[in-house]
Amino acid sequence: MIFNKPGRITDDIYMLGPTGVPIFLLNCNSPVIFDAGFSFLGNKYAKDIKNVLGVREPEHLFLTHAHYDHCGSASVLKSHFPGLKVTSSEKAKDILNRPNAIKLMTTLSKEAERFAAKGSKKRQSAKPFEPVVIDRTIKGNDIIELEKGLSIQVIETPGHTRDHISYYIPEKKILIAGEAAGIPDSTGYIVTDCLVGYDMYVDSVEKLAQLEIEMLCLGHDFVYTGADAGKYIKRAVESCGKFLHLAKTCLEDEQGHMESVMNRIKQIEYDSKEGIKQSESAYMINLKARLNAVQNHLNNNTHQN
Ligand SMILES: [Zn+2]
Repeated sequence: MIFNKPGRITDDIYMLGPTGVPIFLLNCNSPVIFDAGFSFLGNKYAKDIKNVLGVREPEHLFLTHAHYDHCGSASVLKSHFPGLKVTSSEKAKDILNRPNAIKLMTTLSKEAERFAAKGSKKRQSAKPFEPVVIDRTIKGNDIIELEKGLSIQVIETPGHTRDHISYYIPEKKILIAGEAAGIPDSTGYIVTDCLVGYDMYVDSVEKLAQLEIEMLCLGHDFVYTGADAGKYIKRAVESCGKFLHLAKTCLEDEQGHMESVMNRIKQIEYDSKEGIKQSESAYMINLKARLNAVQNHLNNNTHQN
């Protein structure tokens, strides 16, 4: 099945907050949250968590990566749930300690809040981005035992960012993939979001495709269960090749003129997309990074030949 609405997926997993920027709750004896969305949605996430857990409190927050739309409300959630232990990769922790990264995330969070409030008369109860203290760091292949018969396996999945981690719960065959397996839109098109490295990104998606998956929770918009989970991952792998081909063709046609290449790809990936989407400026910044990643891949392969 394909879920694109917040709420209960199974008794184990809940998608909370808005579907566009969700967080996931693993409901067990020591409840776990995966990712922390935007800072300005912090109170909304906390309310949703309380609706599911009642008087119980989440014990862990695991971050996939240090992007402001995935770690934004970590400090807000800590203020709601003082016992919450925040876990990330060592690289994510480094980023979250850097003053320039904090400054950038503060600016981008404000921008996202303004963008989200567009057209809505309701004033957001603004929670500015605040840095969070990381309580524990993890690395690839670590296994965190939550309780008897329930564990979280850490999988390093760089490519979208260098610090990206995915989480796999083997006993339930649940994969929290963040943005390591692309971002699908409502038409089924999967954006290959290889911001820092095309080859790294492909290796990561292929690694995830090896897992036995009954439920796949993506960083934005969708949860897939049953056969749809496996089908999605297979398509995510194929999408990498398609994006490479598209970018290569556009770069050749436009003789490397970046602005024309970006506009052509934007028409396909962004302009034709309906409904809620990221701001155009955020999309363009990411597209530029993705094209740089592809160009590096193409240059490296030319040198090898
Ligand atoms: Zn990201």
